[in-house]
Amino acid sequence: MEPVQQLSGGLALEFVANFFTGYAATGLSEQPTYGEREWLEHLLKFANEEPDANLVTLLTGCAAGPVTVLDEAGISGAGESLTPSQALDRIAPGVRTAFIEVLTAMLESPAAAKRSPAIAVLGDPSNRVMTVHRYLRTGKQLRRAAHLMPLDVRTAFAFATLLLLASDRDEIVCRCHLGSCRKFFLQRQSRKGGQPGRKYCTRAHLDEFYRLQTAERVRRYRARKAK
Ligand SMILES: [Zn+2]
Repeated sequence: MEPVQQLSGGLALEFVANFFTGYAATGLSEQPTYGEREWLEHLLKFANEEPDANLVTLLTGCAAGPVTVLDEAGISGAGESLTPSQALDRIAPGVRTAFIEVLTAMLESPAAAKRSPAIAVLGDPSNRVMTVHRYLRTGKQLRRAAHLMPLDVRTAFAFATLLLLASDRDEIVCRCHLGSCRKFFLQRQSRKGGQPGRKYCTRAHLDEFYRLQTAERVRRYRARKAK
């Protein structure tokens, strides 16, 4: 097995290398798991530089819970505080940028994304992602949950790219049209069965767009009147 060279932190390395023991020891096996879609949405948080992006979730497909090993694993210098996206850039330089490049190409078309040179930067995730199954007993019910465990952060983004480009899936990458936001998100199916939302990441941003549009119309009307 190739060494996990992207992870510089001792604890992080140890955790990933012995992940079955690490997984149990850190209490992650007790944490709620993320399905594929939720995990993909979590990866988009790194592309969007959201403050609640989490490296543990990225590598384990679990809610991070009490685990902060990756944040403390010697990635940041003394007295330095890094955002999750900055920490990621330090662990695996160029990976986030490449992922953003692929996402941007995806907005055009899947074919454009497949042609993107950034795909080569992310590499081939084959045989580098495990699916961990968990069986949860609630009363007489036995429920199955599965989550992903990529070997390293580069693999996580390479695998996410593969999932987003697989033709048998319906996750479509969108980017919020609101100028002050520009977040990447996955298309949502509207609850009422209407057109799925593809332009704005949230209802609030759609409303904000309408508000700005109205304000602009008023401004133009007043400017015309003043002439
Ligand atoms: Zn938005």
